[in-house]
Amino acid sequence: MALKRKLSPKLTLYRDREFPMCISSKSCLRHTAVVGVGGNIGDVRRRFHHLLTHLRHAKDVDVLATGPILKNPPFGYLEQDDFHNTVLAISTSMQPRAFLRFLLRLEKKFGRRRSFANAPRTLDLDILFFDGRVINRADLVVPHPHWHERESVVIPLQGIDRCLNIQGR
Ligand code: AMP
Repeated sequence: MALKRKLSPKLTLYRDREFPMCISSKSCLRHTAVVGVGGNIGDVRRRFHHLLTHLRHAKDVDVLATGPILKNPPFGYLEQDDFHNTVLAISTSMQPRAFLRFLLRLEKKFGRRRSFANAPRTLDLDILFFDGRVINRADLVVPHPHWHERESVVIPLQGIDRCLNIQGR
């Protein structure tokens, strides 16, 4: 059962039993990453729940918090369905590039096929922040470029900010 709130004609916010959620158990894993999660093929909200279940069983990661889910229009390539987006705060023992490889493997596992930029996708996982670090490499840019211009990031992020403050992350 999800609670649905229309924020504007184009934006709808969903809350359900796992999104948003602030997890109170302590994690001793050293790093904190905030991951942007999105998709627009099939039952995306259901896939987000499966992703969370998968992460709960994964080695070297603890999920600390989830944001609410925002339904929002595509940008770039407009002839496609609306996106659903959320954010996850995750603690991990992995270094940033190992964590990126972990996320790319997860995208594949959840059916992601790469075609063209801004194409429809089952699951997109982006590292928005990693500790307080600034990384500018060919394969990894953190903070994720343009995050602050995207409602798909900024609105779900508001749901986890307070939780991470409480956890001292
Ligand atoms: P896309 O899934 O289309 O957004 O692009 C994925 C590619 O972007 C990956 O293969 C990464 O090498 C690159 N990339 C650069 N910075 C990031 C980041 N912060 N998070 C995820 N992927 C990134």
